Amino acid sequence: MDKIIFSNRAIISIQNEINIYNKVETGGALLGYFDKKNNAYYVNTVIDGGPKAIREIYNFKCDLDYTNMMIDKLVNDSNGSLRYLGEWHSHPQYTPEPSDVDLESLYNMTIGYGKEVIMTIFGFIDFDIENIEKQSIAVIYNKSENAFYSIPLIFEKEEF
Ligand SMILES: [Zn+2]
Repeated sequence: MDKIIFSNRAIISIQNEINIYNKVETGGALLGYFDKKNNAYYVNTVIDGGPKAIREIYNFKCDLDYTNMMIDKLVNDSNGSLRYLGEWHSHPQYTPEPSDVDLESLYNMTIGYGKEVIMTIFGFIDFDIENIEKQSIAVIYNKSENAFYSIPLIFEKEEF
């Protein structure tokens, strides 16, 4: 997989969440599809962390009852056009880096899901949508190579 492409609507959802929770980590799940021809993931739907999410300066945990319910509902209602792609969360950094806890969690999610899972992280310190390329990172765990990779993130001004 070469890249991850976010739609305009997906970026706006993340921006709104980071603006609301601008002193603590927040996050949620990513939905979209995989395009074989472009060898790319397309993210067009962002799910928030839910009402019982834990949002602290150095810690974020989804409200799993809520996010799993939302994932099931949106995937079922999409007639096969959407699938679960991974997770997103914010960090108290300008240029975000995955923590050891993040990598361990990505490893466990990938093994548990049985497919590649994307982890995207956004730096919420002085977060500015104009600098989103610098303030974001996407990581995957490659099972066959037993290694973590960072994958280019592309932010489109379009919907798909
Ligand atoms: Zn993290």
